[in-house]
Amino acid sequence: MKSKTNWNIKVAKFAANTVNPIRDVVENLKIEPNAAKKFIPLSIGDPTVYGNLKPCDEIIEAIVESVKSNEHNGYVASTGSEATRKAIAEYCSVVGAPLEATDIFVTSGCSHAIDMCIAALADPGENILIPRPGFPLYKTLSAAYGVQVKEYNLKPNDNWQIDLSHLESQIDSKTVAIVYNNPSNPCGSVFPEQHIRDLLAVAERHCLPVIADEIYENMVFSGHQFIPIASLTTEVPVLVCRGTTKRFLIPGYRLGWIQVHDRHSRFGVSFRKGLTQLCQRIMGANSIVQGAIPAILRNTPKTFFDSALRVIQENAAFVYNTFSRVPGLSPVKPTGAMYIMVGIDIQCFPTFKSDWQFIERLVGEESVFCLPGQAFNYPNYFRIVLTLPLELTKEACVRIAEFSKRYYVCNNIVKNNAL
Ligand SMILES: *Cc1c(COP(=O)(O)O)cnc(C)c1O
Repeated sequence: MKSKTNWNIKVAKFAANTVNPIRDVVENLKIEPNAAKKFIPLSIGDPTVYGNLKPCDEIIEAIVESVKSNEHNGYVASTGSEATRKAIAEYCSVVGAPLEATDIFVTSGCSHAIDMCIAALADPGENILIPRPGFPLYKTLSAAYGVQVKEYNLKPNDNWQIDLSHLESQIDSKTVAIVYNNPSNPCGSVFPEQHIRDLLAVAERHCLPVIADEIYENMVFSGHQFIPIASLTTEVPVLVCRGTTKRFLIPGYRLGWIQVHDRHSRFGVSFRKGLTQLCQRIMGANSIVQGAIPAILRNTPKTFFDSALRVIQENAAFVYNTFSRVPGLSPVKPTGAMYIMVGIDIQCFPTFKSDWQFIERLVGEESVFCLPGQAFNYPNYFRIVLTLPLELTKEACVRIAEFSKRYYVCNNIVKNNAL
């Protein structure tokens, strides 16, 4: 066969098909802040960027020790070191959902865990169900594998609970898993026990495993409870994806894992072997971080989690109370994670043809940037991150409120005035 004689390097389909909608949205939006006002981004889902939230001394010391010991410089088993898997199994075991070290697959962040679950369960042409609004990564990862996503609705007027009949109507013969996210990004919602049970009943009826994104485990406001989905079922096999990213405030460490909960061995031996083989593609997660994980999971004090949650909860209360009084905006009260969704009644802002324009003008005039709902396939909402120093959040909210009042036109009032 004739060899090539010119340079014609193309990008492979897999790379070209790996598209993150958030990046698309951010690149297509005109984001030109008003130079006269300090720019406040309420858009970045990284709790460390504002400097007010950082890991505690116990976490830092665990990393320093891991480096100094010289015991964690080499390759570890691709599914994770024995000590790390054991520590994670202990940290995640709850009544009703026991775990062994061998049920844990250590990954490079929770994203990687989700990626592996999709890759292990779905073939091209098959589909998985994902929430709408929801974390865009599920679609990004699936698309490159040729796996379809079918969205099921969450209900804003019902604390963003799943529309279970809609979910069930989306199931077809090609459906291989239900992706579930609790507490939720972008909604900031936390599901009550009965609702999780109702979802599990649907999964059981259709013999579908659940991929549970529980990266915000235990990040719930006072008076609310996080219930691990695996603790509520012995029948439905569940792959739980978690990590140290959000709760421990160390997204950059890239440490996550899959917990395989499967009382009746419905996943089977070949499925676990498949997960192991996927781990071998990149020879496992960072060894230094793995070396620190047992100490991080055991020594991080409750006061550390409590103080981060206090910041989030104070932000949540302020944003919710402020926007509840702003005509044309309807915040949905969050109960966990680190976000709030705010509805825009776009008909009351006739200056703007779409929520998109609302967001663009908001940046242009007030130098405040929130991610438009379209980033989560949910127009007429925007998402606010609740991890900023409270003073910054307050400043941003005052500006958003003034902006909204400036452009708000209520048809009823106009009519009444005319009479
Ligand atoms: C942040 C986030 C992740 C990703 O976590 P990493 O550990 O940084 O990969 C996964 N799922 C949701 C819903 C998230 O918000």
